[in-house]
Amino acid sequence: MNPSQTLYRIQRVDLKLAAQRKRAREIDAELTSDEAVQQAEQAQREIEQALRPQETRATSLNLELQSNAAQRSQFSAQLYSGAVSNPKELQDIEHKIEALTRRHSELETALLETMIVVEDLQARLKEASTHLTGVQETRALANTALVEERQQIRTEIRQLKAQREKLAAEVDAEALALYEDLWPRKQGHAVAVMDGDRCERCGVSQTEVMAQRVRRGKDIVFCSNCGRILITR
Ligand SMILES: [Zn+2]
Repeated sequence: MNPSQTLYRIQRVDLKLAAQRKRAREIDAELTSDEAVQQAEQAQREIEQALRPQETRATSLNLELQSNAAQRSQFSAQLYSGAVSNPKELQDIEHKIEALTRRHSELETALLETMIVVEDLQARLKEASTHLTGVQETRALANTALVEERQQIRTEIRQLKAQREKLAAEVDAEALALYEDLWPRKQGHAVAVMDGDRCERCGVSQTEVMAQRVRRGKDIVFCSNCGRILITR
């Protein structure tokens, strides 16, 4: 068989192999990158970090409110127990109760404001958590599909390699070495089809003598312009 024709068939296998290997690398990169999940996790973490100090603040305001109320009832009890009769002392107690009442009102306002912030953040946290779960589930499904595709590609690569071995055995070593040297330098197109007398890759016409040699297909003929191995269709 015409060695150039066999080299052309090897080239078709090599181009398929290159495409499959490229896709396999893309899949590997995708399987190891988890950008969407990381972003969703980060969003959830940020809300959690904002929520924690607000919850602490609400707890401490609540505690202060309780202690304020306890103190007030203690003073009120003192005031109405009749145990204190000194007017100066009675007035002191009244002042303390007034101060505690003012503070109570401030605390209630602060607590209310804090609770609004806490509830808003809790709602946002719930949303972020739902979003994260969704992203993780989508990711898992996509990964399954990718792993399957990767598996298929492995099988195809094995088959293509076997095909290539068979074809490579049909040409002599010298011709194969020529092709393999040319292949990467011509970006995977070491062999070009001649259309009429024109090289299809570079578009340049060959001399009649050269074109005839290509048609005879007894030996390897290179395009006079781009240096590719020429074949007829
Ligand atoms: Zn050419």
